[in-house]
Amino acid sequence: MTLVFEPQRPVLIPTVGDGHFPVRRLFCIGRNYEEHAREMGTAPDPEAPFFFTKFAETVVGDDATIAYPPGTANYQYEVELVAAIGKGGRNIRVEDALSHVWGYAVGLDMTRRDLQMEARGKGRPWDAGKNFEQSAPVGVLTPAQSFGLPTRGRIELKVNGEVQQQGDLGDLINPVDRLLAFLSGLYTLEPGDLIYTGTPAGVGPVVPGDVMVATVEGLTPLTVTVGPPQP
Ligand code: MN
Repeated sequence: MTLVFEPQRPVLIPTVGDGHFPVRRLFCIGRNYEEHAREMGTAPDPEAPFFFTKFAETVVGDDATIAYPPGTANYQYEVELVAAIGKGGRNIRVEDALSHVWGYAVGLDMTRRDLQMEARGKGRPWDAGKNFEQSAPVGVLTPAQSFGLPTRGRIELKVNGEVQQQGDLGDLINPVDRLLAFLSGLYTLEPGDLIYTGTPAGVGPVVPGDVMVATVEGLTPLTVTVGPPQP
C-alpha cells in the first residue's frame, strides 16, 4: 500500500492589523474561576492550577460553523480569555511573564461534558471530552500592548442572544502571569503556544443551530454557530 502523507499545514489565527499568528500548542487551564469550580462540584484550589492540552488542529476561527461532535449528548461551551505566547522560555518569573505574551483573544473551550465527567469519575484522561476536532474556536488576536494588562474586564457568552456566562478577568484564581510561570516550570513555552485561561460560571449545552457570541471587554468578539453532526 502506498503511504499518502500530506505535510501538516500551519494553523494560523488572524490578528488585528491583518497579520497571522501561527499556532503551536494549546494549554487549557481548568477551574480557574471560583464559581465555575463550584458548579463543577469541586472546591477551588489556588495553589494547584491544572491543565489539559488540545491539538493545534482543533483551532477554528471566527464565524466558523462547527459540526456537532460525535459520541456526546451534552456538548457544552466554555468562554475563555486566551493568551498567545510570542516569546518562549522556561522557568519564567511572574514579574517577567506578561512580556512573553504576544496578544490576547476570546476563545471557546468546547467540551463533550458527558465524556469529560465520565473520565473524571473513573480517574481517566480527559482527552475524549476536550481534545477533538473543532473544539477550540478562537477569535482575532489583539496585540498585548493594545489590550493592556489582563487584570480586569467583563467576559461573557451569549447563546442565541441570551447571556449564559458572565464573569470578570479580575476573578481569575490564577491570572495570566501566574499561569505562564506555572506552565513554564513544566514545559519550555514556545512562540505560538496558546493558553486558555479557564471559564467563568454558567457553562451549559448547545444544539445544532445555536449561535454563540463570546466576548471579552477590549477584544474582538468571537461568533460560532453549531452545525449538524458530520454525516
Ligand atoms: Mn475550559
